[in-house]
Amino acid sequence: MTAAAPGRLTGIPPEAFATAARRIMARCDELSRVSADDGSITRVYLSPEHARVNRLAAEWMREVGMTTRMDAAGNQLGLLRAAEKDAPVLMLGSHLDTVIDAGRFDGILGVLMAIETVRLLRVPGAELGSWRSPFPFGIEVAAFSDEEGTRFGKALLGSSAVAGQWDESWWDLTDADGITVREAYREFGLDPGRIGEAAHTSEQLVGYLEAHIEQGPELDRRSEPLAVVSSIASARRFQLSVEGEARHAGGTPYDMRRDALLGASEAALAVERICSAEHHIIGTVGQLEAFPGAVNVVPGEAKFSLDLRGEYDEKRDAVWQRISRDLDEIMGRRHLRWRAREVHQAPALFCDPLLQDVMAQGIGSTLPKGSAEPVTLFSPAGHDGMTIGSVTPVGMLFLRNPDGISHHPDEAVSAPDVALGLRAFAEAVAHRGAEPVS
Ligand SMILES: [Zn+2]
Repeated sequence: MTAAAPGRLTGIPPEAFATAARRIMARCDELSRVSADDGSITRVYLSPEHARVNRLAAEWMREVGMTTRMDAAGNQLGLLRAAEKDAPVLMLGSHLDTVIDAGRFDGILGVLMAIETVRLLRVPGAELGSWRSPFPFGIEVAAFSDEEGTRFGKALLGSSAVAGQWDESWWDLTDADGITVREAYREFGLDPGRIGEAAHTSEQLVGYLEAHIEQGPELDRRSEPLAVVSSIASARRFQLSVEGEARHAGGTPYDMRRDALLGASEAALAVERICSAEHHIIGTVGQLEAFPGAVNVVPGEAKFSLDLRGEYDEKRDAVWQRISRDLDEIMGRRHLRWRAREVHQAPALFCDPLLQDVMAQGIGSTLPKGSAEPVTLFSPAGHDGMTIGSVTPVGMLFLRNPDGISHHPDEAVSAPDVALGLRAFAEAVAHRGAEPVS
């Protein structure tokens, strides 16, 4: 085997990474059993399962020498103080909540890797290049409480509170049972009036690093285990409706039909045609409904969703313009009317050049000498970094997910890849430690 490029972390026995990876895999299994549903994984914000995984994460944080607290938004935090009392912290983390019938690694892996990174950095005898303990900054591990937005339909609630971006209108969002965010806070034992206390200022943070499984097949296709993330996709979401005329399915000849479902179907195909011809622009129609929805009636109305993501906001917007023009043409030809309501918009978040660089050096330290530069990918999926990026620089590491399936029970990552990822992530922290604090 060729020797890996030298890193800043020395004095950590190589088998420590494999041991830590096995512990992470076992704990991903353990957390997967904390679920609202028997036989599948569902863990939503402010639920009894949320409280249980916070307790487990807190226990594991204390085990590696951190002091712990749950913040005002239900995020579980662990702190390893710097020698200097008021030194800022480098935040490491991800989220512990899930979608319905989830996999066991999305988010969870990043939290456990952050905890194990702290353990590795504290291995007796670990020499951190020019960066020796006591740290020039503290390390705070964040297990965010709501990234997926499964319960209240609004994603990133946990990290938004940490970024000081809480929106007062969110208190009135409701779950499927009509329980508001405000009520759920009280039920969970949190005081809505103290939400501001969860906020971190820019001065309190050095940066934010997150490891996450890739939610696509790119690394697997390239036979590479790890990638530096360049940016987190910008997104826009629309609810579209098409209006035609509901008439008898038997008695209406084709030349008299104004079939709203066929208009919407053609629109969905146009989205695929336009987006697949573009680099890094992804459009998906995930919901489609026809009204009145009877077997013997030509659909007079159709509603569908459009999710648009792209590496750059301008390109995403240009693609939306093209889709709009095509929809005008399709609906005009079919004598239908259409309108769109925008329900979500988020700009792209560009990862910090310095943190991309330390992540690349971290990955480089796992590669044989003389290897090509580490892979860089953009993330079409959203992450907590999107909100944390408003207060501090963000860096991300992707780990290979065979087949790329995610938000699904088949989501996977291998223990050897986790060991490599952990080495890269810990190296990245050490490299950041060798740079000035601000
Ligand atoms: Zn995630």
